[in-house]
Amino acid sequence: MLDLIMFVLPDLPYDYSALEPYIDVETMHLHHDKHHAGYVDNLNKLVTGDEKLSDLLKSDNPKIKNNAGGHINHSFFWQIMTPKGGEPIEKVLALREEFDAAALGHFGSGWAWIVINDGKLEVIDTSNQDSPEAFGKTPILGIDVWEHAYYLKYKNVRADYIKAWWNVVNWKEVGKKLNEGGVRII
Ligand code: MN
Repeated sequence: MLDLIMFVLPDLPYDYSALEPYIDVETMHLHHDKHHAGYVDNLNKLVTGDEKLSDLLKSDNPKIKNNAGGHINHSFFWQIMTPKGGEPIEKVLALREEFDAAALGHFGSGWAWIVINDGKLEVIDTSNQDSPEAFGKTPILGIDVWEHAYYLKYKNVRADYIKAWWNVVNWKEVGKKLNEGGVRII
């Protein structure tokens, strides 16, 4: 019987140690090889292969919704980080204070995002693995504030992680997503 794999864990577009000292190599291994891989494995056990990812993100089945969101969110997250990020984009950087407050203030596990909503940039936060795509919003930047993203290095000091994370933002990729109006998966 053909063993059909519907969703695939993407390789990191850089070395595991590339984001040092801001994101440590051990966190990158655990985050990508265990957490993201887990979402992909779980998702593949739950779906038939006929579904669209955009529908899975809005599934009434929380296991499907969470694992689909975990896969898409992390695939996005690896892309928008890099060791050499290029020049910041002013109109995105102008939202940093609001974004940082959303990331720091988010209670429990989740994400803060800068999204395009009706053609305008907006800061939002989402809980657990909810994707902005499920709300019709296209992310151009996002930070994972689950403890698994920072606890090994930053312990309980989420603010230090957020501050450090800005050093590894991939501005080239953010600019690309911005110019394309976000990259809709639908
Ligand atoms: Mn994560």
